[in-house]
Amino acid sequence: MTAAQGFETKSENDMLAQRADDKKSVLSTDYSDNFEFADLTALGSQRFLLTVDTEEEFDWSSPFSRQGYGTKHLAALPKFQELCDRHGIKPCYLVDYPIMDDPLGVELVSSYAHNNRAEIGVQLHPWVNPPFDEIVSHHNSYACNLPPELERAKLTNLFNAIVERTGITPDAYRAGRYGAGTHTTDILTDLGLSIDTSVRARFDYSEQGGPDYTHHPVSPYWIRKGSLLELPLTTVFSGAMRSAGNVVFGEWFGSQVARSMLARSNMLERIALTPEGIPLAKALEGIDLAIEERVPVINLSFHSPSLAVGYTPYVRTEEQLDDLYAWFSNVFQHLHDRGIRPTTMAEIKTASQFPWLV
Ligand SMILES: [Zn+2]
Repeated sequence: MTAAQGFETKSENDMLAQRADDKKSVLSTDYSDNFEFADLTALGSQRFLLTVDTEEEFDWSSPFSRQGYGTKHLAALPKFQELCDRHGIKPCYLVDYPIMDDPLGVELVSSYAHNNRAEIGVQLHPWVNPPFDEIVSHHNSYACNLPPELERAKLTNLFNAIVERTGITPDAYRAGRYGAGTHTTDILTDLGLSIDTSVRARFDYSEQGGPDYTHHPVSPYWIRKGSLLELPLTTVFSGAMRSAGNVVFGEWFGSQVARSMLARSNMLERIALTPEGIPLAKALEGIDLAIEERVPVINLSFHSPSLAVGYTPYVRTEEQLDDLYAWFSNVFQHLHDRGIRPTTMAEIKTASQFPWLV
């Protein structure tokens, strides 16, 4: 199994290893009938979760570098947190090493978490996370491509920095660039993390040396039953061919040209639930489709540098920043109107383990 194929289960470590159906390779490239979905009925209803890739500013169009990044946008975090407060939403800030190296980053996320306004998770950007033992390259920007000991050392450093500096023990992990792989499972389990949210279902990064999640489900499933849950980012298909989307999107219409033709003709379009590059009307359509699909947890995400002007391709002007805030306000209102309440990593963890708690 290659790293690009993702996690695999090691049933001997499973809480319920005696269950024969545990032997499946849950992040294989096979179709979704190989995935064991988690029972989240204890959540009571469909919910949504807001995950924030909380990370340094860097030039997205330049090669990866250990230097030259900034964390200036952190000054804009309180405004976003206040918006979440007003809507009763506790975002999960998936923080990386540069954020934990900035006293303001530590102060903000710590106070939000300690005041029960937000959660803190882990996000690994290996190129700016010690130890620095690898060559900085496109390939090595996916942590799953590193030697397993180095992926482990980086993740352990980051985890310890978060615990020491914030006083919070995180539950959730997201690999930067969605780069989770075969060895990630052991590392997460050993650190005591119980939720992975690295899978961007219906996206394929293999051309760039990253994972292929084309056939991964959007619904949460077990990587290790009872101990490690996968909570994919939510992406839906719309259009007349949407029920076939999982099959055809990657294979028959692999090129960007074919994809935009399909989208323009209303045949098939992929909608990622993020304000970054997805206009409000599309996002609302995508949310309605996710509700229709009965996705138990609608997982919205974006990158924190988009909260200030000039740091990501999506927010280059004040007007685009206003649009971003309008997007959030409208999306939160729409979810509220549709009866979809927010949830948290902690609630999801408890709900997923509920079948064993009763
Ligand atoms: Zn990132």
